[in-house]
Amino acid sequence: MTGLKDKFERIIDYLRISITDRCSLRCIYCMPPEGLSLFEHKEILTYEEIIKIVRIASELGVRKVRITGGEPLVRKDVTLLTASIKKNQGIEDLSITTNGVLLERYAEELARSGVDRVNVSLDSLRPERYREITRGGDINVVLRGIEVARKAGLTPVKINMIPIRGLNDDEIKDFAGITLNSDYHVRFIEFMPFGTGGFWNSGKYIPCDEIKSIVETIGPLTPVRVRKNGPSKYFRLKNAQGVIGFISAITHHFCEDCNRLRLTSDGKLKPCLFSETEIDLKPALRGGASDDEIVRLLKLAIEVKPERHNINEKSDLNFLQSMSRIGG
Ligand code: SAM
Ligand code: SF4
Repeated sequence: MTGLKDKFERIIDYLRISITDRCSLRCIYCMPPEGLSLFEHKEILTYEEIIKIVRIASELGVRKVRITGGEPLVRKDVTLLTASIKKNQGIEDLSITTNGVLLERYAEELARSGVDRVNVSLDSLRPERYREITRGGDINVVLRGIEVARKAGLTPVKINMIPIRGLNDDEIKDFAGITLNSDYHVRFIEFMPFGTGGFWNSGKYIPCDEIKSIVETIGPLTPVRVRKNGPSKYFRLKNAQGVIGFISAITHHFCEDCNRLRLTSDGKLKPCLFSETEIDLKPALRGGASDDEIVRLLKLAIEVKPERHNINEKSDLNFLQSMSRIGG
């Protein structure tokens, strides 16, 4: 079965699962210095519960799963989860979004467990600035992790950078330049107005068109087709080995092609990243509900998926708290 269609004829075949709200870093745009208040362990879905949801979702046509967080690699025995998800014949594409801190240690094990690809978040190439943005991270550990991931076949390794005015926008060309001599996918993601200890303001936001025009000062960009490229628009610099993507959730929102549901670490299905609507699976899972009841709740989340979001850089998304809570 291919994914279920929502009211707007979009096929929903992608589940993005946050497996923890904990993180090893404290990125200044994502969390306050002291971190966020955390769920108690018993509030977080167990691996068995997540696996059950994935099995039922795959019976409804979900083919693609991304594991995220918080930082997914800080959760114990994550490869037991990934191996079990990949054993489910329905799941064709399994990926992880990580800050890369633990990749050096886990990349090979992740690949062996069936993970296909990784996305690594990296917002500066300068050690001091990286430390400042992440409040203490060591860029060399992440760079080594990226290389181990590439060698382990978790490819294409996608490097996600959020250009923020006055913070790291002077590195946009350096990031784009990575693609000249290596086959990484470098993706620029628009900064979004999530409420995170007052860091956000609209002056820090840089629209994708502006990011792209900065990249074009290196040389012309040729559009390229990338298989399963999701919401990213991809381009290549002349003779470059890698490609450059632009993900514009705000200015050119990609809602018309949105194929995903999100599952938070405490078991809430979110039909849209920006929606307040959540469907809580935990009471059903822990109350002994039948598979049919979980099917009903998954279908409900698809049914209430909005046609599009209406946020812009002036929106106040404080109610959403941090991306680390939802699973970016
Ligand atoms: N810890 C992992 C990581 O950093 O990749 C996974 C979770 S993190 C919340 C997922 C992604 O959300 C990261 O790429 C991060 O840069 C992004 N993110 C966090 N806050 C954001 C914001 N306000 N606007 C845009 N992206 C954001
Ligand atoms: Fe942690 Fe990722 Fe948020 Fe950075 S962006 S604080 S690594 S969850």
